[in-house]
Amino acid sequence: MAEDWDSAAKVDRTEEFRGALDKSVNRLRQKFNQMARGIAPRHCPLCGYYGKFGPFGSPPRYDARCPSCASLERHRLITLYLLRNPVLSKEHRLLHFAAERPLRRFVSSQVGRYETAELRVDTNPDHVLNIEAIEMPDESFDRVMCNHVLEHVDDAKALSEIRRILRPGGIAFLTTPVCEGWPATYENPEVSSREDRFLHFGQNDHVRFFGHDIRDRIRAAGFRLEEMVAVEPDVHRHGLMRGETLFIALKPEVAA
Ligand SMILES: [Zn+2]
Repeated sequence: MAEDWDSAAKVDRTEEFRGALDKSVNRLRQKFNQMARGIAPRHCPLCGYYGKFGPFGSPPRYDARCPSCASLERHRLITLYLLRNPVLSKEHRLLHFAAERPLRRFVSSQVGRYETAELRVDTNPDHVLNIEAIEMPDESFDRVMCNHVLEHVDDAKALSEIRRILRPGGIAFLTTPVCEGWPATYENPEVSSREDRFLHFGQNDHVRFFGHDIRDRIRAAGFRLEEMVAVEPDVHRHGLMRGETLFIALKPEVAA
């Protein structure tokens, strides 16, 4: 039997399958073009657009990006939360890390002082800050927004620093990729090259993939935690990612 397998394995069948592969690629291309135009009309709570959304990412997620304001699923989830809960006011000073353009106009319109923070100066932020060691006084902000940053950095340091710069009663709005089926966050010190990080963590500059225990990690930094999960009918109406979670981390009024 082993000999049969060996002889079969020696026949290069690439050419034989090339035609089938080409047909398959053409079918996928047609399907992609069809899906890329959007599946059904959605409503964007950020800009009011109603119509089909476009794809985003590689590999692409369909119905992800609003063609009017470029919002993605998480931006619309956060906006729905902010529209339904009176958590921002003109009395508030808010710091937005890695500030996403689609969210800026709406969030800045809801608070008294809106400031952006980036690790580098390239995008002309209000502050150039390292989230692991934030050069800001204690208790200087009422609100912090930080989307898809924690998976790039030392999350224990970052969460501790966010808590420090928040005033008592302050709130941090946090999103990050989470694998809810994993009880524990996956970290691996042997994974350090860009290629390996892409393979293990899904992006070449991610340093972990959070599991369900992200809640424990946020609480360990001294926060109380509430959540908004993307569920129906919001998912189909607004083009959200099923089960995506917005973590609302609250700094207690009185130190525990
Ligand atoms: Zn929009």
